Amino acid sequence: MRTGSSRKGDARGERVFHGLGVSEGIAIGTAHLNERGVMEVPEYDVPAAERDAERARLDAAVKRSRQQLEKLRAKAAGLPDSVAEELGFLLDAHLHMLADSRLIRGATRRIAEDGRNAEAAVQAEIAEIAAGFAAVEDRYLAARIQDVREVGDRLVRSLINRPYQPLSHLPPDSVILTEELSPAETALITPGEVAGFATVLGGVESLTAIMARSLGLPAVLGVPALMHSGIRSGELIVLDGSAGLVVVSPTAGTLAEYKEKHAAYLRERRRLDRLRDLPARTRDGVEIRLQANLELPGELDSVLAAGAEGVGLLRSEFLFMNRDDLPGEEEQYLGLAAVVSAMGGKPVTVRTLDVGSEKLLTSLGGRTTESVNPALGLRAIRLSLKEQPLLETQLAAILRASAHGPVRILLPMISTTGEVRAVRRILEKVLRRIRRRKQAPKIEMPPLGAMIEVPGAALTADALARDCDFFAIGTNDLTMYTLAIDRGDDQVAHLYNPLHPAVLRLIQFAAEAAHRAGIPVSVCGEMAGDPRCTVLLLGLGIRELSMAAGSIPRVKERVRVMDHLAANRRAHMVMDQWDAGRIAALLDDFNALA
Ligand code: PEP
Ligand code: MG
Repeated sequence: MRTGSSRKGDARGERVFHGLGVSEGIAIGTAHLNERGVMEVPEYDVPAAERDAERARLDAAVKRSRQQLEKLRAKAAGLPDSVAEELGFLLDAHLHMLADSRLIRGATRRIAEDGRNAEAAVQAEIAEIAAGFAAVEDRYLAARIQDVREVGDRLVRSLINRPYQPLSHLPPDSVILTEELSPAETALITPGEVAGFATVLGGVESLTAIMARSLGLPAVLGVPALMHSGIRSGELIVLDGSAGLVVVSPTAGTLAEYKEKHAAYLRERRRLDRLRDLPARTRDGVEIRLQANLELPGELDSVLAAGAEGVGLLRSEFLFMNRDDLPGEEEQYLGLAAVVSAMGGKPVTVRTLDVGSEKLLTSLGGRTTESVNPALGLRAIRLSLKEQPLLETQLAAILRASAHGPVRILLPMISTTGEVRAVRRILEKVLRRIRRRKQAPKIEMPPLGAMIEVPGAALTADALARDCDFFAIGTNDLTMYTLAIDRGDDQVAHLYNPLHPAVLRLIQFAAEAAHRAGIPVSVCGEMAGDPRCTVLLLGLGIRELSMAAGSIPRVKERVRVMDHLAANRRAHMVMDQWDAGRIAALLDDFNALA
């Protein structure tokens, strides 16, 4: 195989691109380039008193678009010289157009003088610039108008916070190639149609990566030159989600090699499927509860097929994705009740809305995007407590869904005991209100728990345990906030490591606090689904793990060959270490012997 990114206009032939393998499996299919299409934008008049705010909205979208381009530029710098140069020029030109350009000046004037909304102002300005260019027959200028359109589309997309094009109704076995795929866009993918996807931006523990694993879709993120290398829609693609490779127009030899790898992968899955009905019990008789994380109702079949003992983390954001309005109580209730009923008496832990940072939702009207640093801003429980009617509606829906089976309520991004108490008071009020209604008079108060995913929460877990009925340790955010590494940023993905001793000490402290207080504690971050870490988590006293359904068989296999006492001893050994590499080696060494 010839490796390295190719230049625009290369002769056809096999080309290989490298990125982060975030979701295992081999996809063989045809390229679907998800480029910017024509977007329908809302058009309305803005009253004079609101025009300053509308201009500020445009400014914020310009800023976000610039940030996206800067990120792409940084990625491009890592490419081979000639490609980096070519791509660098292009991105510089785009950045320039987002500075004090005719496009921005014109759009701003249309808002201020004509009272147009920002999206319509940008589109009208592009149309006028294009009309001017169309009169001139010049290839250079023709290329520039394409650039203006691309920049305008980026801006409008940022304003309306919508996917470029719907990712449904694609030909079977499509491999999506795109700049970036948001969690909301990923939710639109139909696994039967799409064989896998690759993106330029995105990190290993981003929600998009997590969703790919849950959907069982092979995925490679962080592939620098993917969108500017002349790949055409319809070209044959092989995508290796474990090795992080995208092979374009593979030779017959490469194709045969990957078909064999794919067959071997499917044989391995069939072998693991046979574990479905066997207990997750260590050799010395310790029972471990293996549950599934659920991001979309479409994953329910695989959750049931994997033999999950419940849903240990239901990320409720799906109810709010890809829509402009907020779902009401009835709609949320129906969505949740369907999951609870389908689980047939197995417990479902519903997490309240965890919006913010990468998890942006159009239905919230951009209320969460204004923070200087969204990961540290008004998100998750902070937003729910600020927008109390939103929280009350969600709690009412969860309470009503609990009539269909055992439910627990989980709060994201808790950092103080005050937050848990505030939610409990609201929950009690909502419960009283619901009991007064005829439709659900007998509903009981479900257990209320906290995600331990902020270092401050882990370090005060003993205090939190007094106000919580259970803990769920979220190692994804705990790692991000402890090490100050954005989990969704491919540029620092190599530094992201949940085996860092600082993260492990926080897990240990939180688990011990839960044990002392006699409340259940689970781990539901991606670490829970990594069989390499099973010995460590069990050794630290964790008895409940929640993970992507597809990870359950491998973790169960690990549990079943393990001696719990030996796991305890190994965990002690690990906790004496200060080097993540040495810790990984100690785990691998244990796993090789067990
Ligand atoms: C976590 O942070 O570990 C977690 C499970 O929550 P999410 O990945 O949804 O942020
Ligand atoms: Mg989290």
